[in-house]
Amino acid sequence: MIKPTHNIIWNMTRKCNFRCEYCYFPHDNSPVTETLSVEKITDFLNGTGHTWNVGMTGGEPFIYPGFVDICETLTKNHIIGVDTNLSMPSKVREFADRIDPDRVNDMYVALHIQERERIKGVPAFIESARLLIDKGFNVIVNYVVHPDLEDRFKKDCEFFASQGIPITPRPFKGEFNGRRYPEAYGDRARTIFGKHPEQGKKVAFNFFGIPCSAGMTLLRMEPDGTIFRCPGDKTVLGNVLDTVNTYAEPRPCTKKRCPCRGLEHVHLTATQEDLVQGIQYAVVAENDLSRKAFAQATSLSPGHPCAENNLGVLAWRCGDKAKAMSHFQAALAATPEHDAYVGNVQGALEDSADFDPEICLNVNPILSN
Ligand code: SF4
Ligand code: SF4
Repeated sequence: MIKPTHNIIWNMTRKCNFRCEYCYFPHDNSPVTETLSVEKITDFLNGTGHTWNVGMTGGEPFIYPGFVDICETLTKNHIIGVDTNLSMPSKVREFADRIDPDRVNDMYVALHIQERERIKGVPAFIESARLLIDKGFNVIVNYVVHPDLEDRFKKDCEFFASQGIPITPRPFKGEFNGRRYPEAYGDRARTIFGKHPEQGKKVAFNFFGIPCSAGMTLLRMEPDGTIFRCPGDKTVLGNVLDTVNTYAEPRPCTKKRCPCRGLEHVHLTATQEDLVQGIQYAVVAENDLSRKAFAQATSLSPGHPCAENNLGVLAWRCGDKAKAMSHFQAALAATPEHDAYVGNVQGALEDSADFDPEICLNVNPILSN
């Protein structure tokens, strides 16, 4: 399969036939009426002269009218990816029969175990997942390890593995009990993500001010055809029903949280690459590899506040509080206004039993937060 360099994330609809508790979309399962002409979409994509990876997401894409027809049209010249809850067995069978697995980059299947149990949908899920796997689709079954599900996660993994369905843990991203995840997993992350260190990449990095090719090689399309620069930056570049003006060159990122895919499109310096790697490892509690990456960053950029702060977090995790404090103070001295650095110095001074220092996700040293 060709690996396209250009990605467009098509948010097909906000509607969904599930009601996951942690979902931020409205729980609306009424028929999808806002639809786009797939010919208009292919006209735009073909007109760019590139092969695109069209990431079809929602809500739930399979409830979109003519979904399999749309996939068939798109895969003539482009590659697709699908995010689905795999809850419509007859449509999944049609998809598996008509779509060439070589034209599908990946199928991200969300398990949502509590919701699936609520609708008594576990056996149907296993059947659909097995069908796609057996047909040769690259199926990745994601399990969002919400803090509420941490206790049952291991048992669920074992059960689905026994059915021939490997589970990939996905970090929960958001606030829970006043803590920001995934950073707040702390050392528990090793148990959850030990076999999946790549999940450390699923962090909302702060790339503010760093040049990014989003707007050229990454776009987001809304249900009405509006094209945004990317999932994080909602600058409108046009509409596929009319005209779209993509950027001619990389531009600085304007957001402090990059929700997804940015890592593939942002232009990092060598130090920033080390910082990103260090953060990825820190999030999944690969502490030695993380320390090595941050040390490499400080050898390239001595005193870099992000590296100093995060070396402090790692030292705190090992119980070396004096060393941690010296790193936290170095970070704060370099960037005095930074909320995380202020909080970490204060927390280390107070040294209460539940103090869990904050990892810095800002890899750009010129900025305060
Ligand atoms: S399946 Fe996805 S879109 Fe649907 S309710 Fe659950 S989290 Fe939301
Ligand atoms: S770094 Fe992320 S949020 Fe910023 S422009 Fe790139 S893709 Fe968008």
